[in-house]
Amino acid sequence: MPTLFEKIIAGDLPANIVFRDDRVTAFLDIRPAAPVHILIVPNKVIATANDVADEDEALIGHMFILARDLARANGIDADGYRLVVNCNAHGGQEVYHLHMHLLGGKPLGPMVLRK
Ligand code: AMP
Repeated sequence: MPTLFEKIIAGDLPANIVFRDDRVTAFLDIRPAAPVHILIVPNKVIATANDVADEDEALIGHMFILARDLARANGIDADGYRLVVNCNAHGGQEVYHLHMHLLGGKPLGPMVLRK
């Protein structure tokens, strides 16, 4: 079963795509948790951070460089932002296709609530 993100990358599910090239697709999160909430997704299927291979090093770097550029393009670079990758159940991962969240546009508070 293809994930939602595979369908978006294939063009079979609509999304608000803000960038795409042969390696990555970036689109707006459907339930934004901040004024800027963009998902940066590799076009190739990598289920979780555990499944990143050594050969993916350049791809992962490309996602990071794109996050930098999208932060700048959205005017949140100077105030700051957060990059998040959730992995598996304890990480709160909902979609099993690796993605990086770019969040910003307001103070985001503590990264994880301490109890
Ligand atoms: P994660 O918990 O890290 O797996 O995050 C999955 C994210 O995907 C959540 O923030 C969802 O709001 C987002 N999401 C789910 N379905 C869609 C969709 N069709 N288009 C855009 N974002 C989505």
